[in-house]
Amino acid sequence: MKRFFKTTAALAGMLSVAVIFFTAVPASAQPSIPQGAKILMKAYPNFIKGYENGYLLMSDGTKMQYDDGRKKSFEQKLDDADPEDMFAFKYDRKSWTPEYLQDAGRSRCEQLFKKMYGSSAAEVRKHLVTVSWFGEKVLFTPINGAADSLRAVARELEKHPELRSYLKSSGSFYWRKVRGANRQSAHSYGMTIDIAVAKSDYWLWKNPGKKETEKIVYANRFPKELILIFEKHGFIWGGRWYHYDTMHFEFRPEILMANP
Ligand SMILES: [Zn+2]
Repeated sequence: MKRFFKTTAALAGMLSVAVIFFTAVPASAQPSIPQGAKILMKAYPNFIKGYENGYLLMSDGTKMQYDDGRKKSFEQKLDDADPEDMFAFKYDRKSWTPEYLQDAGRSRCEQLFKKMYGSSAAEVRKHLVTVSWFGEKVLFTPINGAADSLRAVARELEKHPELRSYLKSSGSFYWRKVRGANRQSAHSYGMTIDIAVAKSDYWLWKNPGKKETEKIVYANRFPKELILIFEKHGFIWGGRWYHYDTMHFEFRPEILMANP
């Protein structure tokens, strides 16, 4: 009997060593985590806790496929984006003229944004808070620190009276589809603000009837200083897109992290 216990104990010991061995091997043999997935974990730590075998591990216990492996056209990268596609475009902070079809930020994985900010107008709205914005009140989401980041932008802009004429809000939260497309506008999630529509340029106003992949003429009347202040606090600017929308500022820290 004693011998039996000894053998069992020895076996159990061997088994636990084997368990450690076998669980340790797949982890170390796992291909390295894609750069984009690492950035998403850093940008959205309250929602994305890890990465395993091609999936983002979400804080609610679900998994989200990082890369569906499909080759996509320019339009598909906008209309049907997985998390990996969000890093397909360059957000060029060194030049003030966007390159052909470089629209970093216009590609949004809808599943990810709906999980973070809410999957319906009512769900997004129940989180929204008020941010004081140069005599106006704008509705913004506090999720991921977006509202606090907008407040930080406002505090910094207070010191720049020369930029005041660009700050009139033209809308923040608005649950809607992108004009002429079937994808959700960034305004749906409450982390986007449009300002100074009267001084803005939008690619379709300047190039009416042009298709997404046609060559277009660029235009912008916003001062660089204003853009740099928003970017410092996690907002990307629509004026850095080939399909420019210069009134548009969107809280997308992952795009800035990926394009230092
Ligand atoms: Zn906008």
